[in-house]
Amino acid sequence: MLRIESPNERAFRSEVRSWLDRNIPDHLRHLTFRPQPADAMPWYKALSRRGWIAPHWPVSAGGMGATPVEQAILMEELAQAGAPDIPTQGLNHIGPLLIKAGTPEQKAMHLSRIVNGDAIWCQGYSEPNAGSDLASLVTRARIEDDHLVINGHKIWTTWGHHAHWMFALVRTSGKRRDGITFVLIDMATSGITRRPIVTIAGDDEFCEVFFDEVRVPLSNVVGEIGQGWKVATSLLDDERMHLGTPLSVNRALVRLKRLVARLSKQEQARWMARVTEAEIAVETVTAAWLDVSERFEAGVGVENESSYLKILATETVQSILDMALEVAGSDAARCEPVLEGNKRIDVNEMFLQSRRLTIYGGSNEIQRSILATRVLGMGGGRG
Ligand SMILES: Cc1cc2nc3c(=O)[nH]c(=O)nc-3n(C[C@H](O)[C@H](O)[C@H](O)COP(=O)(O)OP(=O)(O)OC[C@H]3O[C@@H](n4cnc5c(N)ncnc54)[C@H](O)[C@@H]3O)c2cc1C
Repeated sequence: MLRIESPNERAFRSEVRSWLDRNIPDHLRHLTFRPQPADAMPWYKALSRRGWIAPHWPVSAGGMGATPVEQAILMEELAQAGAPDIPTQGLNHIGPLLIKAGTPEQKAMHLSRIVNGDAIWCQGYSEPNAGSDLASLVTRARIEDDHLVINGHKIWTTWGHHAHWMFALVRTSGKRRDGITFVLIDMATSGITRRPIVTIAGDDEFCEVFFDEVRVPLSNVVGEIGQGWKVATSLLDDERMHLGTPLSVNRALVRLKRLVARLSKQEQARWMARVTEAEIAVETVTAAWLDVSERFEAGVGVENESSYLKILATETVQSILDMALEVAGSDAARCEPVLEGNKRIDVNEMFLQSRRLTIYGGSNEIQRSILATRVLGMGGGRG
């Protein structure tokens, strides 16, 4: 870390470091995959009890109200300590959206349960024929009395099979961006079927969700009926800021360094220049994220910057983990993890896990299109 920190920031870093050192269960350190809820949620709740689960939320909503630098410190220390990955759809996506646009009842019902870790959320946007072209979604909802009745099919729903709630886009009328409604769905409602999908890395991170006459109260609509596109895209802009954070790049760097540390002194010296380049790339992402976050906190719109951050951070992670494959040499071809002492380093899985980064949250090709259209004034984009 190359930033100059204030005495308070240095004290905060050392407090975080020593707490993480004492509190992360050994068997959950340095995992290359997100653990199942039975392991991930107790850790989530421990961070929540310590007051560090929602650093970016305002104190009034149950968060920590941390400055961007404090948030970066937390992420850097979590990465350094090898803290396990936790579900973030509640914390980074629907929580901030409800704080901005939810009704008082929606806030009262959901915010504290997200912070406490009592409710797991999933995102129901993508459909089999609506991914990059999200406006072509066809999951339908008709209004009946004071309910929406939903029929359709969502796919690639991260942790959908573990989630208690889904925030979803459904079509209540019209075509493309008109007539889409943003709604909160209790996953225990009758008519919902979930089918896990196994990823290329062998885990069941996401699933398909089928809706058959699923009745959802109209009070669960966020914003106006038919005006969900605006709600959804503001959420996606925020989401990309969270995909472009210092956490993922620092995690990748820690993993690379653990592999380099297994080499002989002579071989380590051979890698030194490239590891230093990786460190500089991580600092670049952190500096860019801090700059965008500070403007976001000041109320400046950062829609374009969030696309840029998403590209920068995800491609930095991939390039660092590609380097990790080179460092691992023939170990990279093994399906079994290599061991450092009694700690596993799953090189193969790290590489496979990193492929998804440039796809989810809107693929990097689509982010480049957004920047071409909005910043460079090229082309027209979809309607
Ligand atoms: C690990 C993971 C987790 C996910 N979690 C969720 C989730 O929780 N909830 C959810 O709703 N969705 C989720 N998704 C889905 C994700 O948002 C979509 O995969 C993504 O938007 C791309 O859509 P698609 O898969 O239909 O690919 P397609 O849209 O079919 O795209 C295929 C390829 O073509 C490219 N392409 C498409 N259109 C264009 C264009 N106009 N210009 C240039 N290139 C183009 C894309 O970049 C991509 O490389 C997840 C995906 C992954 C990989």
